[in-house]
Amino acid sequence: MNRRVRKIVIVGGGTAGWMTAAGFSKGLAGSDHTIEVVESDEIGTVGVGEATIPPILLFNRTLGLDEAEFMRATQASFKLGIEFVDWTRLGHTYFHPFGTYGVEMHGIHFHHFWLRHLAAGGNLSPDDFNSCAVAAKAGRFAHPSPAERSPLPPIGFAYHFDAGLYGKFLRRYAEARGVRRHEGRIVDVQLAGEDGFIRSVVLADGRSIEGDLFIDCSGFRGLLIEQTLHAGYEDWSHWLPCNRAVAVPCDRLAVTTPYTRSTAREAGWQWRIPLQHRTGNGYVYSSEFLSDDEAASLLLSRLDGTPRGEPRPLRFVTGMRRESWKKNCVAFGLASGFLEPLESTSIHLIQSAIGRLLLLLPGHGFDPKAIAKYNEMTRREMEIVRDFLILHYKATERSDTPFWRHCQSIPLPSSLADRWDLYRQSGHMVIGPEELFKEASWFAVFTGQGVQPLAYHPLAEVPSAEELQRRFDLIRGDVVKRVQSFVPHDDYLRAFCGALPTGTTG
Ligand SMILES: Cc1cc2nc3c(=O)[nH]c(=O)nc-3n(C[C@H](O)[C@H](O)[C@H](O)COP(=O)(O)OP(=O)(O)OC[C@H]3O[C@@H](n4cnc5c(N)ncnc54)[C@H](O)[C@@H]3O)c2cc1C
Repeated sequence: MNRRVRKIVIVGGGTAGWMTAAGFSKGLAGSDHTIEVVESDEIGTVGVGEATIPPILLFNRTLGLDEAEFMRATQASFKLGIEFVDWTRLGHTYFHPFGTYGVEMHGIHFHHFWLRHLAAGGNLSPDDFNSCAVAAKAGRFAHPSPAERSPLPPIGFAYHFDAGLYGKFLRRYAEARGVRRHEGRIVDVQLAGEDGFIRSVVLADGRSIEGDLFIDCSGFRGLLIEQTLHAGYEDWSHWLPCNRAVAVPCDRLAVTTPYTRSTAREAGWQWRIPLQHRTGNGYVYSSEFLSDDEAASLLLSRLDGTPRGEPRPLRFVTGMRRESWKKNCVAFGLASGFLEPLESTSIHLIQSAIGRLLLLLPGHGFDPKAIAKYNEMTRREMEIVRDFLILHYKATERSDTPFWRHCQSIPLPSSLADRWDLYRQSGHMVIGPEELFKEASWFAVFTGQGVQPLAYHPLAEVPSAEELQRRFDLIRGDVVKRVQSFVPHDDYLRAFCGALPTGTTG
């Protein structure tokens, strides 16, 4: 197929479909591309996916969204990180904050100085040096202020939002920019005889929608990429043990916490995502160690509010498509693969896939080199996220249930084994510029899950003990001062994007 790539057909109208439609309508504005979305109300969307990570700010800003309007429309709250309960051992809690720890000194990361402090018998928590962790504990929030004169790096934050409302919001955005929507169930996919490229999708009522480039956002089924083009799937279940989830929202919390909570359970973990109008909950588990009925009833017994509706079961296979881009079809979102939501990465992976495809967008025909580059970049990104997730299951003292004993026997991919060894031996982390999780994130999870290095960077020895203590006091003081200037999260939400609903529990 060597003709101009002009008409883009997005199959699916979930979060992936509408993020893509919005992103492409903005990114291709002024060109003569046309964008059409096909979705089926009858099939519906996966209906979960409410916690995000900081790069979402860039996506929303690139679209030019008004933050307050977006938050009102999606019942969003602010997110400063994730609280991990019972992951390391029962009764233990740690926080993975979005911002960095302390400040860099002598050209090295702050964690080396904290490791020196620890080695010298110190007992200060790394959280005391992190504004996001301190603010989360205090339940406070404020946007970074340009007027603030602090040596600390700005806080990082993201959102919790109602995924269904986010999809609707982006749909309005995309349609206002010329994206055309077709409602209907696709029952057939027509391929060109000569090269096997996708020519059109056919709806149940007989309509046929032709396109040059197809973006498969059809969810786990991978209607185009797998069912039609058979791209293949790489199963990573041997590394990440969970394969099911059950989700149910409940009444909102009395106080909207500015963080996600992840509580390790007997056969997986439970999420709690606080929105303005309700709280999202789910139990992610392994079917080898827990039945669906048990998971649903355990989840219902552990909610912080009255459930709204029946628990919704979900099944998944952790892994990725062998080729996310094959012929004239690129898979985004769940159609491209799935890594469980422990670090809220899936929506981000959609966002980065949009950026990557816009970067490598074909003009005339499809260049195998561009396709190979796209697939290589996708794989690298997925593998890095995968490794970060495995760390949570593997670096734990828990052995109290068959599930946690199984986790101890999980093999490590060599990429993670190398990173872990390096950190353990020297306190060093070498993070590539393309990596999603930076030093602060790896440090938070390594430390939180009890992995302590045997050494630290020699430059951490440069300041005298007194000088280091003085700097530590200053940094901790600056963190406290900053967080004192923040306001309770609910007050901030009310002031920033309107009143919260009444009728709270929790
Ligand atoms: C348990 C769980 C928890 C999650 N939590 C998070 C989280 O906290 N944070 C995060 O970032 N991500 C999370 N995710 C991932 C997130 O939900 C998805 O990445 C996101 O919703 C994108 O889904 P999607 O649009 O790819 O698929 P879907 O929502 O399944 O949408 C598929 C679309 O394709 C359409 N479609 C399918 N077949 C046809 C057909 N034959 N004809 C016409 N249309 C069709 C459907 O109608 C629908 O519009 C979670 C996922 C799971 C399973």
